[in-house]
Amino acid sequence: MMTKLDSPCRILLLGGTSEATSLAQSLAGENGMSATLSLAGRTANPAESPLPVRVGGFGGVDGLTEYLTRENIDLVIDATHPFAARISNNAIAASAAAHIPLLAIERPQWTPAGGDEWSEFDSIDAAIAALPDTPQDVFSGLGRQAIPALGAAPQHRYVIRVVDASEPPASLPNATIVAARGPFRTDDDLELFRKHHISHVLAKNAGGSAAYSKIEAARLLGIKVHMVRRPAITPRSTVASVEDAFAWIKAHHRRCSERGV
Ligand code: NAP
Repeated sequence: MMTKLDSPCRILLLGGTSEATSLAQSLAGENGMSATLSLAGRTANPAESPLPVRVGGFGGVDGLTEYLTRENIDLVIDATHPFAARISNNAIAASAAAHIPLLAIERPQWTPAGGDEWSEFDSIDAAIAALPDTPQDVFSGLGRQAIPALGAAPQHRYVIRVVDASEPPASLPNATIVAARGPFRTDDDLELFRKHHISHVLAKNAGGSAAYSKIEAARLLGIKVHMVRRPAITPRSTVASVEDAFAWIKAHHRRCSERGV
């Protein structure tokens, strides 16, 4: 009979970010670890994963607790986006209910540098409402889920960057959709902003390097940035990098094996 000592460490990796993809690559080659990557299913063509992937919501805290118990999960790693607050808070509650340790990878936030012209807001709606009343040329880096909110200020000409190509909604008569997946380059964003005469950038304070190019390009061109602050997430154990998360998992796995739990 297999005991806990020789059974693999079962990990649920909540993903949807470049950090999750990178951690999946590290975990895939590790002996004694059996990890599953979980995606919400928001994008049509997610990045390839070397780990088994499950797709779709769990059904709130109760559904996730049930999944953790049923699948004998030993560790939960939350590598979701800093603005994915619901799944992060659900994961905290569910892992506590199932008595399973949870670690989150939390990218450091961006902070304004010399030359940046930022205004900060607590919500996407507030960042949009603070645009001038007169029509402007606005780049939205807020993602697809924020497109309906732009309808509150339909007078602007929008350039909206999303992962999956789609038609602009009828509520935004002057919108252009640019489908692209990060990491993005500052030179490309400079060209895009110049081409569309961008006057304002709408951004979420995601942190990290993959989406920072728009902030850098705005600084170089003297463009105003309306920055949405991160949503609140219940305090939890965090690390700032994939490397630290991997080290934490290995240390945790070693301790579990030594104790035979
Ligand atoms: P959210 O508002 O926190 O989550 C909404 C619901 O989607 C959750 O309650 C959960 O459904 C399901 N869900 C979210 N992430 C999941 C995951 N990794 N695996 C399984 N179910 C998940 O999240 P969101 O802002 O919609 O983001 C969805 C996904 O896109 C996340 O995985 C996130 O990492 C990624 N993403 C988000 C952003 C962003 O700006 N929000 C940007 C880039 C990538 P149930 O309650 O039914 O379990």
